[in-house]
Amino acid sequence: MPRVVTFNYTLRDPGGRVLDTSAGGEPIAYLEGAGQIIDGLDAELRSAVAGTKTRVTVPAAKAYGERDPAQMQKVKRSLLPVDGELSIGDQFQTGPDRFSPVVTVAAIEGDDVLLDANHPLAGVDLTFDVEIVSAREATAEELSHGHAHGGGEGSCGSGCGCH
Ligand SMILES: [Zn+2]
Repeated sequence: MPRVVTFNYTLRDPGGRVLDTSAGGEPIAYLEGAGQIIDGLDAELRSAVAGTKTRVTVPAAKAYGERDPAQMQKVKRSLLPVDGELSIGDQFQTGPDRFSPVVTVAAIEGDDVLLDANHPLAGVDLTFDVEIVSAREATAEELSHGHAHGGGEGSCGSGCGCH
């Protein structure tokens, strides 16, 4: 049976730089196997019990994927929906809604701008320092919704209005 697991984490890149952390906030809750966290981490935590502290390194291929050179595209600066200065590292969405892909400015060469549509963490091996806060069997409702509920740290709380 899939479980609902809550955990605290700090995520670092191979250089030790902190990319993300739950410190100072609520722990993360997820339903095992539901794609709520990256697959490589989900798989490594399947047997972890409450109180477990562990370090999990997830290779890029099992996290946000390898970098894809085909996702690099050179466009004319005038075609970009950007006013004013453009800098390397700037990110913007390629479409009108919040689900549109995000691209990053990788290089600027005169009127040409090289855009990178790879996920910012593509090609990066990720190291998670994890502390399991709780682990319990998922409820039938959680299984039918495909995500964790409740406990104050869940993704949608009791009386879930997501369906
Ligand atoms: Zn729900």
